[in-house]
Amino acid sequence: MGGAAQQGKSLTPPDEPQIPDPKSPQQLPQPTRWSNREPSFRHFPQTTMLPRQPFLALLLLLMLINLGQALVHYQKLLPQRHGSSSQSNHHCGLYMRMNPTSFDGSNFVITEFPRPALRRVPNAPVERFDKELESLAEEMISVMYQANGVGLAAPQVGLNDMMFVYNPSGDPEVKAMERVVCNPKIVEYSTETEVEEEACLSFRSDDCPGSVARSSWIQVVYQNELGQQIRRRLKGFEARVFQHEYDHLLGLLCWDRFPPEDREAVKANIDKLLGLYPEEDAVIDPHPDQLKIMQPPPLTARRMPPLEAEGEPEKKTAAPKAKTGFGAPGGFGGGSKSKRAKKKKAKK
Ligand SMILES: [Zn+2]
Repeated sequence: MGGAAQQGKSLTPPDEPQIPDPKSPQQLPQPTRWSNREPSFRHFPQTTMLPRQPFLALLLLLMLINLGQALVHYQKLLPQRHGSSSQSNHHCGLYMRMNPTSFDGSNFVITEFPRPALRRVPNAPVERFDKELESLAEEMISVMYQANGVGLAAPQVGLNDMMFVYNPSGDPEVKAMERVVCNPKIVEYSTETEVEEEACLSFRSDDCPGSVARSSWIQVVYQNELGQQIRRRLKGFEARVFQHEYDHLLGLLCWDRFPPEDREAVKANIDKLLGLYPEEDAVIDPHPDQLKIMQPPPLTARRMPPLEAEGEPEKKTAAPKAKTGFGAPGGFGGGSKSKRAKKKKAKK
């Protein structure tokens, strides 16, 4: 302090008021480093300092929001209940997979449960096999790939026609496995069945998977996009996809075929879907007549494969995991009268 006071008269002790001398400004002491900064600090009035704090707070907030979004996205990308246990179903119920809201080259959107188009029967037979139908088939196939599905039935894009498309490979490059199926009939079901996990684009795929019993092989007849009669015997995953899509044309959904415990496991997500469609015309269950014709019959607790010992992860069957995202055929879920069943059912 004393040393500084010797540098000039303007550096008066703090208890003495500083008297500026306008006559001799050049005699002002050389500012120290600190006194050099002081004027520049003072140069920013309070009014410019204060806005900086909200700005920094906003920046921080934006960073936190970005971080939050990244975490949500990461959660969505996590493998969800691939073990098909009911615990993981509940665990992953927080985030629902979203179907694309729009598709390149198409105005279609995926019809989601419980929109009535999925339950509407009978669907109209395809009668005109022309360029328009070929174009529709191409559009549906494109939408199917864009939605990461392996099959797509007309009711799933709001069209009540007896038509579906599929490619069991799910690979757009494998054109040889693409099929356009019009006016199909399954004329024979194998008595032997296989149980695998299925999901459906109309149930947001991985968000509502469940065990579904399908005939191991089927004999089918249908017309392709050119109107040609096709008769084939299908087996394995292709037979499963065909049965799933065929169910769509009967107003059935894979959820209808789930055993009671699998229905319970996805109940939270089903309720979310129901909440997203509050309209009065929601249709929860299929028409009772449709339930009578379900082939093969849906799983019941009695027909379910034996559960693994407690404490071990639950495993459905040794069957390979089905790809998700194809239009799964529906079935009766045991006539649950849960709160979602209280929704008013619309009959077509
Ligand atoms: Zn489906």
